[in-house]
Amino acid sequence: MRSSLIPHPLPGTTCPPPASRVQRVLDLVFTGKWTWRNRWLAAYFDFCSYGQVEILPSNVKVLSAPEVPCSGTIPNPQPYNDGGVFTSSSCERYDSMTKWHYWLDAWAIKTYGVNASDYHHRVMILPSGFSGTVAGCGGFAGRATAGRVSLIRTPVNNWGSGHVWWSGNNVGDLEILFHEIAHNYAMAHANVVGGCNTNDQCDHTCIMGGTGGQGIRCFNAPHNWQVGWASKPVRELGDSDLPYGNPTAVRIPAQMNGLNTSVLVKGGGMPTNRKLFLSVRLNVYSYDLPWQFWDDNVPFLLMHTYDGTDGNPYSTTVFVGEIRVGTIWRDNKSNISVRFDSWSKDSGAAVRICRRSSGEERECADGLDEDCNFLTDIEDLNCRAGASSETKAGEAVVVGSGRPTSPSRGPVSRRTPPPRPLLKQSPPSPRPPSPPSPRPPRKLAPPRKPSPPRKPSPPRKPSPPRPPPRGLGRR
Ligand SMILES: [Zn+2]
Repeated sequence: MRSSLIPHPLPGTTCPPPASRVQRVLDLVFTGKWTWRNRWLAAYFDFCSYGQVEILPSNVKVLSAPEVPCSGTIPNPQPYNDGGVFTSSSCERYDSMTKWHYWLDAWAIKTYGVNASDYHHRVMILPSGFSGTVAGCGGFAGRATAGRVSLIRTPVNNWGSGHVWWSGNNVGDLEILFHEIAHNYAMAHANVVGGCNTNDQCDHTCIMGGTGGQGIRCFNAPHNWQVGWASKPVRELGDSDLPYGNPTAVRIPAQMNGLNTSVLVKGGGMPTNRKLFLSVRLNVYSYDLPWQFWDDNVPFLLMHTYDGTDGNPYSTTVFVGEIRVGTIWRDNKSNISVRFDSWSKDSGAAVRICRRSSGEERECADGLDEDCNFLTDIEDLNCRAGASSETKAGEAVVVGSGRPTSPSRGPVSRRTPPPRPLLKQSPPSPRPPSPPSPRPPRKLAPPRKPSPPRKPSPPRKPSPPRPPPRGLGRR
């Protein structure tokens, strides 16, 4: 990954001298020297990508930029039909946020000979307090383009670039930067059924949800699959692998144990594009910590759905279930039930997946578990005279609701202010032919942690950046 991190101060702010600001950003990426718990971005990517993404010092350029003027125009060539006029007193007017980036790109090449198109991610660090006070910014902690903003290739960048804005108030929170960079890779938010606190970033098991736990984590299974880091499920099951009432047993290793650790289920009464991912997670220090420390060493079986496709990858993942050993998850919207039978550090989780044909055990001597409560025939209370409950005493059944079932989720969130939603950008209209230059800006992903309820950014259509080619960071 090539990144360009460009801090710039506001008039009147007291900042350390430029050199030390640059060093602080470099420390954040490469040493973790002054960060909370001594974590740094390169190690975070290395950890969550299973060593497949390496951020090299030679691929990161940090520039201490001048103030972006209060108003102005971006130099030609530029993709806007309004002459490229911008203001720094509003995040909304004139599509200014994207134009600040273009202004800085022009400054970087002129002043340092640094070509921003050489970098996958152009990150602008905004002054502290900026997003909370400037009109239309809504107090975001981070924002990004959903996908690439430029498809320009250079000899050292065959992918293009995305834009990221990072609030100076949140510099140090690596999960926010990781989250925004992932938006550039066409990854949408990770939600729970019905959302939470009026936003759509509620899955505590994914960077794209980023709530609770210990404030830092890796991707959930569908995003790990989408980004290509763990692209081969340990098992893929369709209807033909899931005969009615006859549970299929699978072994699921812990997600951080390797590349092939999820189970992908299709069919079973789910909508056509829906993929149900089963994965097993437990806190793994120092970067994958979806749960509080008191749940260390507790394995959780997680269920997530993802409806994205190669043609339309920008689709929110939904956390639909989390169970512990000895419990059952039953999805009332499909015919699927799952039981987490046992756990072994060496061989992982023993799990059974079952497709229901009925809400209760109908035949008591056919060797099938029609209602998928993992009790067959006479074991099932339905088959015992006078009994009506489907569930054996002591057996916990969790009905898929998307709400975490672990009581342990602390409300800890280090996120800041409750930004506001998505700013709609009016797409610049066609411009007169001009030399290859940045393409019209695309929609911004919703800001990190919005508050008022609004729709998430519309799914992006085209050009599926089938995520970051592996090892792209290794030039
Ligand atoms: Zn986001």
